[in-house]
Amino acid sequence: MEKIKTAFIEINKDNIDKEKIKIAGKAIKDGKLVAFPTETVYGLGADALNENAVKKIFQVKERPFFDPLIVHISCLEELQDIVSDFPDIAKKISKMFWPGPLTIVMKKNKKISQYVTAGLDTVAVRIPKHPIALELIRESKRPIAAPSANIFTHTSSTNAQHVFTDLKNRIDIIIDGGETSVGVESTVIDVSINPVNILRLGGITVEDLKKVIPDITINQDSILNESKSPGMLKKHYATIKDMPDDIKAL
Ligand code: AMP
Ligand code: MG
Repeated sequence: MEKIKTAFIEINKDNIDKEKIKIAGKAIKDGKLVAFPTETVYGLGADALNENAVKKIFQVKERPFFDPLIVHISCLEELQDIVSDFPDIAKKISKMFWPGPLTIVMKKNKKISQYVTAGLDTVAVRIPKHPIALELIRESKRPIAAPSANIFTHTSSTNAQHVFTDLKNRIDIIIDGGETSVGVESTVIDVSINPVNILRLGGITVEDLKKVIPDITINQDSILNESKSPGMLKKHYATIKDMPDDIKAL
């Protein structure tokens, strides 16, 4: 793996320095990798519409290509480039929980690369509730694909120092915005199927979701795997055999 110098940029989330955000936003536009705080854990971000940048995320994290990424946006209008359908149930849920620690899986738009979705025809989307994450998305004018900013199988990072320990010399920028507040990953729900299904438990509870979607179902794996590997519900992913050829080759 190419060794690069990782720049540290300290930003106060309560008083965001626009010049510093501009540097990070330009890096995203240029196809570079930027780690940034969200309210759940630190994310490792790249332009979700730039296939090469997205591939780099998997390489530096040593993440298998069958594990899809979450696309982060700053407002509902930005969904246009990402999903092909924004169903009524998703409108209702997003009104309740966005911005916040809930990821919604919907049918993907053609513009989203197969690398982001691991060959699936759905894409996971979230509007995070963190001023630095939101400013970075707005400044880069790109949807940002971001898994947790740690090496695959390591614990997700809740501060910049932990990101540095795992990813130094592998990524371009780490934004230090302090400790994250929620500290666990986002809850993931799939609205592309009926009834809506909870794929991973996280920052939003089942009880919260049941208030809005009484018939919501919960995937048993998400309970069993919760403490061990919350993101790994492999049976929902395309198997390597189903992958596009260029992904298999990597
Ligand atoms: P991470 O970004 O490391 O927290 O992990 C992202 C997680 O989101 C994946 O491991 C899956 O659990 C989930 N995910 C992302 N995209 C999809 C999708 N299209 N369908 C189902 N789950 C998804
Ligand atoms: Mg993760």
